[in-house]
Amino acid sequence: MGLVDADVVVIGAGALGLSTALHCALAGRSVAVVERHTAGSQASGRAAGLFKSVQADELRTALARRSITRAMTFADWAGAPLKTVRPGSFLIARTDQHRQFLCRELDQSRRWGADVREATPAELAERLTYYRPVGDYFALSCPEDIYIEDPASLIQAYLAACRRHGAAVIENEPVIGIPVTAGRVTGVETERRSIAAPVVVDAAGGWVRQVAGLAGAWVPLAPVRHQLLITEPTPQVDPADPIIRVVDAALYLRPARGGLMIGGFEPDPLPVDPRHQPPSFSTDDVPLDLGVLRQLAAQVAREVPLASTAPVAEHRGGLFTMSPDGRFVTGPVPDLPGLWVASGCNGSGFSSSLGIGEALAAWITTGTPPPGLTALSPARFGPLPDHALVSRGLWQYAHYYDPAA
Ligand SMILES: Cc1cc2nc3c(=O)[nH]c(=O)nc-3n(C[C@H](O)[C@H](O)[C@H](O)COP(=O)(O)OP(=O)(O)OC[C@H]3O[C@@H](n4cnc5c(N)ncnc54)[C@H](O)[C@@H]3O)c2cc1C
Repeated sequence: MGLVDADVVVIGAGALGLSTALHCALAGRSVAVVERHTAGSQASGRAAGLFKSVQADELRTALARRSITRAMTFADWAGAPLKTVRPGSFLIARTDQHRQFLCRELDQSRRWGADVREATPAELAERLTYYRPVGDYFALSCPEDIYIEDPASLIQAYLAACRRHGAAVIENEPVIGIPVTAGRVTGVETERRSIAAPVVVDAAGGWVRQVAGLAGAWVPLAPVRHQLLITEPTPQVDPADPIIRVVDAALYLRPARGGLMIGGFEPDPLPVDPRHQPPSFSTDDVPLDLGVLRQLAAQVAREVPLASTAPVAEHRGGLFTMSPDGRFVTGPVPDLPGLWVASGCNGSGFSSSLGIGEALAAWITTGTPPPGLTALSPARFGPLPDHALVSRGLWQYAHYYDPAA
């Protein structure tokens, strides 16, 4: 392939990049996605696949609920099949502080349109096989919630839809330059080609800061490790069971491949900055620690005995890109026309990719931000030193389920 001109070049073929590319293509733009490895091979391919309708603010609630609808109707608007599972979820609190927190979430999420209700003990007993509530607790039922069993299936659906709508996806080709002429970004460069484009979207996940740096720009994000495990198949888990989120333990659980998936947010998370790693650093090099997950799971040993004892079939992890306020970082990069960013996943970039990509593409292609979206713009932050970015990102990570508690 020689010189290619496109309306939009997206850097990174994870969920956020592919969704943005697909939506720009659906809006009639010529689009090229350039990916350093293979599509979905980094954070997006490791995701638990969970979609969560209860969110900390109205905008995120709208984006999350829109994403659920778009995932469930993917074939209708994108023209490629996508399998989703809708067992709903329970949010559980076992401390007074977290009970109060969930009561607030119930009230506000309902106001923002989500279908959330208080769950009775009988409902929990009837719907759950792998989780037996013990002692005093409070639970919410969130029937809208879904999951995608294998994260690769969303990536494959995006790729099929991109092909169908004419967006080119170039793999195994890192972007190594973003030329700037007269104060404007003019495209991207790889070792094999230059692609001229008036719009370049940095959707490079854990590498988003390095990529922005190629154009001399700065985005306020700090990558942090996240891990999950899947147990060997066991009859103690009914595959039809709902998702569980135990907010005081910062844990999520769901059926997976006949076993149980367990993921969680440790109180003392590990920042991993790819800028300080060898150039070849990839998600495969993120150091994993099963002990962290075992400790998190031990908090629910009475409710889910198998969580700490069952043999592990898979242990995987990768990087979240955490922002200082826990919200997405999406929109035009200040003072550098032509450069856009789709990042700040804060652990929800897989699921919210459907809504974020749609909204960002609308902003790019019409020049007008969809209602509320400027609140996610990278311009909302002033300069922040690295240590502040990291400490605020770690706080957001550790408070994933209770950012206001
Ligand atoms: C274990 C785990 C579980 C998770 N569970 C969930 C979940 O249940 N629900 C949820 O919503 N989110 C979840 N997440 C978060 C979710 O995976 C991320 O928010 C999402 O994948 C981010 O997508 P992305 O496109 O920004 O990043 P990525 O998928 O990492 O994609 C970025 C891409 O950019 C490429 N790239 C980097 N540098 C360059 C370059 N110079 N040139 C070209 N390409 C480049 C990378 O190779 C990569 O493929 C989870 C994450 C992990 C690690």
